[in-house]
Amino acid sequence: MSDTPNNNDANNNDAVAATEQPTVRFADFGLAPEILRALSDQGYVHPTPIQAQAIPVVLKGRDVMGAAQTGTGKTAGFSLPIIQLLMEHANPSMSPARHPVRALVLTPTRELAVQVAENVKAYSRHTPLRSTVVFGGMDMKPQTETLRRGVEIVIATPGRLLDHVEQKNISLGQVQMLVMDEADRMLDMGFLPDLQRIINLLPKKRQNLMFSATFSPEIKKLANTFLTDPLTIEVARSNATADKVTQVVYKVDDEHKRDVVEHIIRQRALKQVIVFSNTKIGASRLSRHLEQRGIKASAIHGDKTQQERMAALDAFKKGEVEVLVATDVAARGLDISDLPCVINFDLPYNAEDYVHRIGRTGRAGASGDAISVYSDKDERLLSDIEKLIKQ
Ligand code: AMP
Repeated sequence: MSDTPNNNDANNNDAVAATEQPTVRFADFGLAPEILRALSDQGYVHPTPIQAQAIPVVLKGRDVMGAAQTGTGKTAGFSLPIIQLLMEHANPSMSPARHPVRALVLTPTRELAVQVAENVKAYSRHTPLRSTVVFGGMDMKPQTETLRRGVEIVIATPGRLLDHVEQKNISLGQVQMLVMDEADRMLDMGFLPDLQRIINLLPKKRQNLMFSATFSPEIKKLANTFLTDPLTIEVARSNATADKVTQVVYKVDDEHKRDVVEHIIRQRALKQVIVFSNTKIGASRLSRHLEQRGIKASAIHGDKTQQERMAALDAFKKGEVEVLVATDVAARGLDISDLPCVINFDLPYNAEDYVHRIGRTGRAGASGDAISVYSDKDERLLSDIEKLIKQ
């Protein structure tokens, strides 16, 4: 991972120094003992570069525009200072009024929401701060009950959050911190109007943090609209692929793609691999093909229910499923560490998705392989990717 901190701000001097000194520890940030205990439960000692940069700046109350992909540790980068800043409000009271929503994290997908929520829960476990996650595709009732009991940190997908707002299950009038995670994907998925509606419900005075894997003109515009004098923090050049990921492409005939992927999985004895397909039907077919040949595979895509997706992810994490065949939307935000390899069964239509996909491997400093198969008709897609990553 190449760190090219794009900070031209005096406030960030500590942060720049922090990335240059690998000996920086979480204990150096002045975090509450309850938080440090939770970090030690997780076995984390040293912050990742984005954490080293973001934590001091967020603690100072600054707005942040973070250019960071999943896998960089960005979740703790925003969660830890949020929990720290909310510690002054932490209380064990049973009264909902004592637990208004103070921090709101918006994510594009249910999977990412769940993952962020798990992180926040883990880091705040020794504090009385409450957190919860709300997303669509699930019964609203249990979410409603939790919201009504009062909760300081809410992680949500935009649509479901607005449903709860409409039903008056949640009031956003005391939100002091807003996080827009994977903002680029929220735009891609058409959430801009929802974001706008949500932001209109928040107090004007608040701290805003925005994270995005890519830095398109649209994202810059969004940042200009919603952030106040943000500090830009960048780890891994925008649109750059992780340096530790070895990338290989194989040109094959269309009709042999499934067999080639099967061969790669067998030959490399891959036991945990995500294979990306551009279409739901392609994902299902490939998964069936592999299963018929004795490879434990499962497909996740937008036609699967939330329960099915979670079950597949769970089985994958436990090793019961070795190959997860996924579409981009379904795979987005999946927190799977130590993934040694990703395979592109199809080259993505959108070259930036290539960067997201291969970001699944080579995380947190580990090395990884990204293997792509393509056929004649995908030449243009390949050249788009090569142009984007300049390789
Ligand atoms: P994220 O980019 O937030 O999805 O985090 C990527 C992975 O790195 C997650 O599995 C985290 O649990 C893990 N992680 C985050 N921060 C650290 C850290 N400081 N030390 C070790 N692992 C970490």
